[in-house]
Amino acid sequence: MIVVKVGGSEGINYEAVAKDAAQLWKAGQRLILVHGGSSETNRIAEALGHPPQFLTHPGGLTSRLTDRKTLEIFEMVYCGLVNKRIVELLQREGVNAVGLSGLDGRVFEGRRKEAVKYVENGKIKIHRGDYTGSVERVNTTLLTLLLEAGYLPVLTPPAISYQGEAINTDGDTAAAMLATAFKAEALLLLSNVPGLLANFPDESSLIHEIPADRVSEYMGVAQGRMKKKVLGAVEAVQGGVGRVVFGDARTPNPISAALAGRGTVVR
Ligand code: ADP
Repeated sequence: MIVVKVGGSEGINYEAVAKDAAQLWKAGQRLILVHGGSSETNRIAEALGHPPQFLTHPGGLTSRLTDRKTLEIFEMVYCGLVNKRIVELLQREGVNAVGLSGLDGRVFEGRRKEAVKYVENGKIKIHRGDYTGSVERVNTTLLTLLLEAGYLPVLTPPAISYQGEAINTDGDTAAAMLATAFKAEALLLLSNVPGLLANFPDESSLIHEIPADRVSEYMGVAQGRMKKKVLGAVEAVQGGVGRVVFGDARTPNPISAALAGRGTVVR
């Protein structure tokens, strides 16, 4: 089994991802796709007059402030636009893909973090009423049913809280949990960069390999959302996933290239 997470940033070549996934799938490779949609969500939120807002947490990580309206826009884009675009591309390639969010069949389950700590002007504040949380469990039953019947699952946030509420969740972490649940041989995190760059945004400074036990040395170079990817990678490898590759989703065969070791390999 391989788990492929396609990012949601500018420049991702979805056609190439779908073509490559279809080729591997038809050759017998078991595969689950997970995707993001952040840049498209920002664009549509702006257009709808509800511009995105981000919170910076005390540890330095950032996340999208998700009130009810943001959650609805998030669902429109992730579960609607992006998910159906990928399902359609796979169907055109002759693969029977099925799009699901973490809500459907409770595939991604976690705890809602109603009160979120954030930093503003150097002070720690608390934002309440957020629809966010992190995936703590992956329910594999529905996915196994689909895979055994020959369907390729295409998964997207949101996740579902234990109380049954939709929660905005980080797609990289969800993909890492999924890969761990299936003891995947590889987790590929494809984005709009060649991998982890020692000297971002200089693409010639690609770090080719990181031993999982030395990841802390590399955390310093990862900025913003890249930090979450690196943390997710370590968790996955420690959880029994064979290897994690940060690969480039702007290239012609993004999945095969990452499987062949192009990008940053964590093992
Ligand atoms: P996606 O939504 O495609 O998963 P993210 O925006 O979450 O992508 O993360 C990828 C982004 O991380 C890159 O587009 C880049 O701007 C940023 N980034 C920060 N630090 C680094 C780094 N050291 N190497 C590579 N990318 C980095």
